[in-house]
Amino acid sequence: MKSFLKVDPDSQFPIQNIPFGIFRRKPDGKPRAATRIGDKIVDLSVLERKGFFSDLLPEDAGDFFDLPELNKFMGSSKRLISDVRRRIQKLLREDSEELKSDEALLRKTLIDFDECEMLLPASVGDYTDFYSSKEHATNVGIMFRGKENALMPNWLHLPVGYHGRASSLVVSGTNIIRPKGQTKADDEEKPQFGPSKLLDFELEMGFFIGKGNNLGKSIPVGEAHNHIFGFVLVNDWSARDIQKWEYVPLGPFLAKNFATSISPWIVTLDALEPFKVKRQKQDPQVLPYLKSSGEWHYDINLEVSIKCANCNDFNVISRSNFKHLYWDVCQQVAHHTVTGCNLRTGDLLASGTISGPDEDSYGSLLELTWKGTKPLNLACGETRKFLVDGDVLKITGWCEGNGHKIGFGEVTGKILPTN
Ligand code: CA
Repeated sequence: MKSFLKVDPDSQFPIQNIPFGIFRRKPDGKPRAATRIGDKIVDLSVLERKGFFSDLLPEDAGDFFDLPELNKFMGSSKRLISDVRRRIQKLLREDSEELKSDEALLRKTLIDFDECEMLLPASVGDYTDFYSSKEHATNVGIMFRGKENALMPNWLHLPVGYHGRASSLVVSGTNIIRPKGQTKADDEEKPQFGPSKLLDFELEMGFFIGKGNNLGKSIPVGEAHNHIFGFVLVNDWSARDIQKWEYVPLGPFLAKNFATSISPWIVTLDALEPFKVKRQKQDPQVLPYLKSSGEWHYDINLEVSIKCANCNDFNVISRSNFKHLYWDVCQQVAHHTVTGCNLRTGDLLASGTISGPDEDSYGSLLELTWKGTKPLNLACGETRKFLVDGDVLKITGWCEGNGHKIGFGEVTGKILPTN
């Protein structure tokens, strides 16, 4: 499939991708829904108004794309979402005349990416963070409890997770203010209060819930994929010193509630279909309610880089892959709802830090520097144990297709000093 629009072969947004997001024209245009192809934003509200989706979207239901969030569209049936995405591809195809030959319409529909600002794609009611990478859980376990007790006894039996904070979800590019809090060093008697000294990132991916479930009604593992709208990149910023002091016995609280950054484009399951891979074998066998086909894992390359305040270039510090996760997304949805907990359209469920098997594939500075004992030597000459003010952290992710890439763009954030 090829578009009549010129798309660089290295672009993460060819016609095969067609992700969904919310944009506005800089500086203060009205937020609306869009997709992206190459360096162009495609304003979906213009196409909707022109009637290109009128046979697909329900009559008298009002606008789907002239809105500041994607929730209404995300909560539609899987079939409708796939049909609309295919219609957009058809309109952009090189052998399709409807859009290509209408210059006035093209001028209204296509906007240069540089002229736009991306916003959060959805209104997120609840955010849940899992802990689904065996390598990450093992590394952290070894650091804090020793090799013998690295994995907690529950870890291989259920996807461990916690309820995060939705109000502090921010879109890529938002500055991150260093949090303050209580910390206590091992050799100190009392806790202290001040700026976190061990500020870290967490390389994660997350997925948005499309159609939700009613309270009291679980989503079976075999149907979970029908409730997933698509994926984004996630950076779950973490204050390790605050976390270490506060986490017993209920888990992280303030160490993770000050900001979580996501990439702006939601890449659909349809776009990721060609990149499915088998999940690693789960041993011991999981309980029946968690038994999934194991084909809900994806081969997505992930890369983390850092730019120091005085540098012009990013230094790559980790290369990982989504496929390393132990628990898959359908198991996460089934486990989350097995009690009857209701997921709602727009809820975000994140994977937990995605660490690979090798030292240069770890998904946090905690692991990359082994608690700060092995500082990273950056190509620019600086060293890092944890993030310092002025650092910009960037995560990118993409799938390698046949002659094209399907990507997520990036999620970035710059660390600013404590207020
Ligand atoms: Ca996390």
